[in-house]
Amino acid sequence: MTINGYTRVCGLIGNPVEHTKSPAIHNTLAAELGENLVYVPLRVPEGKLKEAVEGAWALNLLGLNVTVPYKSQVIPFLKEIDPLAEKIGAVNTLLRVEGGFKGYNTDMPGLLRAMGEDGVKLAGEKVLLLGAGGAARAVAMLLAGQGAESVIILNRTVEKAESLAEEVNRTAGRRLVRAAALEDCRSLPEGEKYLAIQTTNLGMFPRTEEAVIEDRDFYARIHTGYDLIFNPEKTRFMSLVEESGGRAFNGMKMLLYQGIIAYELWTGSEVDGVLAKKAYQTMRGEMAVRP
Ligand code: NAP
Repeated sequence: MTINGYTRVCGLIGNPVEHTKSPAIHNTLAAELGENLVYVPLRVPEGKLKEAVEGAWALNLLGLNVTVPYKSQVIPFLKEIDPLAEKIGAVNTLLRVEGGFKGYNTDMPGLLRAMGEDGVKLAGEKVLLLGAGGAARAVAMLLAGQGAESVIILNRTVEKAESLAEEVNRTAGRRLVRAAALEDCRSLPEGEKYLAIQTTNLGMFPRTEEAVIEDRDFYARIHTGYDLIFNPEKTRFMSLVEESGGRAFNGMKMLLYQGIIAYELWTGSEVDGVLAKKAYQTMRGEMAVRP
C-alpha cells in the first residue's frame, strides 16, 4: 500500500499489545477494499490511558480497538458510549466523533455472528459459563438478551460469580443465572446436556496443557463447547469436549468478527463473506508464524 497524506490511522491500545493478530484483520480488509487506512498496535503504559485517548483524538486517529487491561478503564475518557457497551460495562472499539471518541462493544455482536456461522444457538439453551471476568460478563449479558433458558456460572472465586449472576438477573428481570464454584461441576442436575462457554484464561498459549476443569464426567454433560481462547487453535478444553463426544469451537471467529464490525463502524464499508474468509485466512496464517 502507499502511505500518503490522506492515510487514515487506526490502532489497538492495551498493555501488552505485541501478541495481537488484529493488524492482520484490518490491514487485509483495507487492502482488499482499496481503502487508504493503516492499523497499528499502540502499547499504552500503566497510568497513561487518559493521555493516550486524548492524544489519539488530537492526532486525528479514526478509531481504536481497546484490549486488556483497559476495556472498562477507558469508559471515563469517552465523549459518548453506545448503550450495549454501557450495559456490558466494557468497550473494545472507539470511533472518532466531534470532540472525542464514542465507545462500542463489538466483542458480543462478534461472538453472536461467530456462533451463528458455527451453527451454535443460544435461545432455549441450558448454558454453563466457565469464568466470571470481563468476557464472561459480556457473554452473560448476551445470553440474557438471546433467550437462553438457564445459565450456571462456574468460577474459581465464587463471590465474583455470585455478583455477576445478581447483576445479570437484575438486568434480565428474571432468575436466569445462578452461581457455583468450580468444584460444583460434579453436582450438576442429572439428565441435562449443556452448551459450555469457556471464558477463563486457562489453556492460553504458552500454557496450552491447562483446562479450568479436568473432570471427564463433566465433559460428558456437554453437547457443545465454545472456547473464547483462539491461541492455540485447539485448546485442552476443546479436546476434552471432543473426546467426550461433543462439538468444540475456538474464539478465532469471534476475534475476526469483532474486528470486522469495528472496521465497518470506522469506514462505513460492508465486509461480505468472501472478504471475511480472506481476513480469517490471513489471521490464521499470522498465528502459525507467530503464535
Ligand atoms: P479476566 O477478566 O481476567 O477473567 C479471567 C477469568 O479466568 C476469571 O473468571 C478468573 O477467575 C479465571 N481464571 C484465571 N486464572 C485462573 C486459574 N488459575 N484457575 C481458575 N480460574 C482462573 O479476563 P477476560 O477479559 O474475561 O478474558 C478471558 C479470556 O477470554 C482470555 O483468554 C481472552 O483471550 C478471551 N477473549 C477472547 C476474545 C476473542 O475475541 N476471541 C475476546 C475477549 C476475550 P477468578 O475470578 O477466580 O480470578
